[in-house]
Amino acid sequence: MSTFSDYKKEIMDAAHDERIGLALSRAIKSYRTNTGNALKKFPHTIKLAEEVREIKSKAIDRMEELAHQAGAAIEENKGKAYYAKTAAEALEIISGLVGKGKLIVKGKSMTGEEIGLRHHLEHIGNEVYETDLGEFIIQKLESKPAHILSPAIHVPKEDVAKLFSRITGEDLPAEIAKLVATARKLLREKFFAADIGISGANVVAADTGTMFMIENEGNIRLSTGAPPVHIALIGMEKLVPTLTEAYKVSEVTWRYANYTVPSYVSLVSGPSKTGDIEKVTTYGAHGPKEVHVVFLDGGRTELAKHPILRQVLFCLRCGGCLYECPVFAVTAGHFGDKYFASNGAVWAGMIDKDREKAAAIAYTCLTCGRCKVRCPMKIDSPEMIVALRKLLAEGE
Ligand code: SF4
Ligand code: SF4
Repeated sequence: MSTFSDYKKEIMDAAHDERIGLALSRAIKSYRTNTGNALKKFPHTIKLAEEVREIKSKAIDRMEELAHQAGAAIEENKGKAYYAKTAAEALEIISGLVGKGKLIVKGKSMTGEEIGLRHHLEHIGNEVYETDLGEFIIQKLESKPAHILSPAIHVPKEDVAKLFSRITGEDLPAEIAKLVATARKLLREKFFAADIGISGANVVAADTGTMFMIENEGNIRLSTGAPPVHIALIGMEKLVPTLTEAYKVSEVTWRYANYTVPSYVSLVSGPSKTGDIEKVTTYGAHGPKEVHVVFLDGGRTELAKHPILRQVLFCLRCGGCLYECPVFAVTAGHFGDKYFASNGAVWAGMIDKDREKAAAIAYTCLTCGRCKVRCPMKIDSPEMIVALRKLLAEGE
């Protein structure tokens, strides 16, 4: 999005795109049913979410301290920890670790998206495969994610069939099971041939340095388990003090992300090791020999000082708000940029410092508050949007 008129055209085109409406109406229906069932089956989640909001609120005030505590724990576990003040610094650290000419498998990471990690690694001469099915579709379409959890939510199965037919040279039907099997076949060998696996994390425990990664596809397990090197990029807002609290954050995240329980939760605290031969600890058994964790500030500690806008850092990326938002329902990821809807406006204004983009998103928001009702963290979007508009109008 370069100017307001570009944005206006983009969002109006999206609103008139019947395929976006079709794909989203299918997804919204399924999300509401699944989340409703998950919360009915595990009603304690609602109370737990209140506790998690408290945990996150306190952790946000101590992000830097927690990052250093987690880093020390990771080093104790024989991993390596790094601290990046800016996106450019994070890219420099990761480029230094990766070099060029590498085959990389990558799990979905909003923080990676935020700093343009894949494009950067490709630009310096690496071959990068997105391994989350939705991200893989987006990568091959040369498009951008339209949802924080389901990046290809706006792409109906008919379009995926066309795309995969083009890649494989076969005439694939628009049958979801066949399309999933095709992606599995295309990516399978990459996991084991890759030099490096890259991931984000949903939450990190500072006391043990443990990263929690929630998923259903199994691609994160493979990306972080099969290659000899694992690099994780973590936004500092993902840190909480203890392993127990990290578990609580994870449980609330997956319930509100529409799962009773996810297929996999990977906990990684350091490189793979064994002491099975003469009790000599040796690193790099079946999993990675090296684990590198990059903690990114990228404006987060500054944003945490704003009394209202800091709420955006509580976000668990469960994606629930987007399924309730009337604007998102007809425009998908065009209502936002790297992050979407009200959170996207705050991110654009406070992190990217792009006033025009922030204003465009902020004034598309209806301040109706439907997202707040759904949000497990009770992030008050209308309150944030009013505060952001005021900041923008005052030129701050
Ligand atoms: S307040 Fe804004 S972001 Fe939230 S549901 Fe309404 S239009 Fe969407
Ligand atoms: S704002 Fe709330 S509902 Fe939306 S993704 Fe974040 S935690 Fe989930």
